[in-house]
Amino acid sequence: MPEFISSRTFSAGEEIFRIGDRGRHAYFIESGEVEVSIPNNEEIIVIAELGAGEIFGEMSMIDDAPRSATVTAKVDTEVIEIQRSRFIQPLRSQDPMMDLLLRIVLARFRSAQNQLSGMRSTPDGVDLSLEKIRALAFERIHSERDLRRGLGAGEFEMHYQPIVSLDGGHIAGFEALMRWKKDGGYVSPVDFIPLAEATGLIIELGRLALEDALQAQKRFFDSFTKAFPDLPPPFMSVNVSGLQLADLDEIVLLASIIKQSGADPATVKLEITESLMMEDPDHAANALKKLKALGILLAIDDFGTGYSSLSYLHQFPLDTLKIDRSFVVNMDKSDSSSRIVRSIAQLALALEMDIIAEGIEEKTQMDDLRELGCQYGQGYYMSRPMPADQVIELIDTRPTW
Ligand code: C2E
Ligand code: MG
Ligand code: MG
Repeated sequence: MPEFISSRTFSAGEEIFRIGDRGRHAYFIESGEVEVSIPNNEEIIVIAELGAGEIFGEMSMIDDAPRSATVTAKVDTEVIEIQRSRFIQPLRSQDPMMDLLLRIVLARFRSAQNQLSGMRSTPDGVDLSLEKIRALAFERIHSERDLRRGLGAGEFEMHYQPIVSLDGGHIAGFEALMRWKKDGGYVSPVDFIPLAEATGLIIELGRLALEDALQAQKRFFDSFTKAFPDLPPPFMSVNVSGLQLADLDEIVLLASIIKQSGADPATVKLEITESLMMEDPDHAANALKKLKALGILLAIDDFGTGYSSLSYLHQFPLDTLKIDRSFVVNMDKSDSSSRIVRSIAQLALALEMDIIAEGIEEKTQMDDLRELGCQYGQGYYMSRPMPADQVIELIDTRPTW
């Protein structure tokens, strides 16, 4: 865990930060005294003296603008230093609109302060950034309204991409991928999932994804058993956002969706990204255990793009590891990518997990992955994600790869 909050002592006369510096910390004064000053032509003007119990440096922490004053310890001074990230991460991830509003208020304040102190602007021009922030806030409000409207109008639908057994060459399951049908085309989830997460709408979208996917699974199951009577029924994999798992009540709700669908839990898989699990591994482990208790399957998505701690990895009740596309794409270009894929396959084997390689676009990649011991693969080479009706048509052709 990074040290977000720590104590520090500055000696009398020592500069804590200087005008123009980037603001990485805010400070609470535990004991001692500091002087806040700004240069004015040749002179230094002291604008404030602060003592125990007071806070300084908090403004730059919010907007990341350069420091608008210099702060110096007058006597030996003990401070509590709070890192910017301690404050900024929760603020942005919880509600970016709040963050934007806070920054507008701050930008106005800075500009008024500058006028009062006779400075035309801070070193990097706050007036301009006020404009930028306003434009950003405006854009955000529009996108959020559009997302809400789309949700109300039923514009979100699921597409499905086959996941293929590299041993047998047949379809083993599907991944459900969300699409936003808008203006005659489809908007990619990379363009709307972050906003849905930032606004909390992902909760509703996530329920929708699970319900639709389980509905589709039933239809696929019927066609599949006709086309491949000897094969096990295909699993359905659904992506889950961290926000859905943050609240244990939401997990209960997801559980009830699975139960009500009548699906065999052993054919339902939830995919959670690696970065998400590592953000708060203890909470993730707890949430995953609750899900696992339902008898469903769990996968770690985009493996290799986050920073997995191996000591945590084996504590998660995971069934499947999905190797990120970036390794598969580079396999034929770089030996190291192949070696990484081989190592990940061995790691998965040691942890008794099966492995799915993402983003197979060429036959040679599929052949190489087979040889490296990957059990499953998905990618445009086999099939692109598509609407449920087209999946059924595909199953009826009894494809193998
Ligand atoms: P992901 O879960 O890693 O999904 C795999 C992505 O790789 C999909 O992108 C898929 O279309 C794409 N892909 C598959 N094969 C190939 C290939 O051969 N080449 C290339 N270039 N790409 C391939 P997509 O559908 O745009 O989804 C992007 C991400 O959005 C997903 O990554 C997932 O993190 C997120 N996402 C999608 N649907 C949902 C959802 O219902 N809920 C949540 N929380 N996230 C979702
Ligand atoms: Mg996925
Ligand atoms: Mg992935």
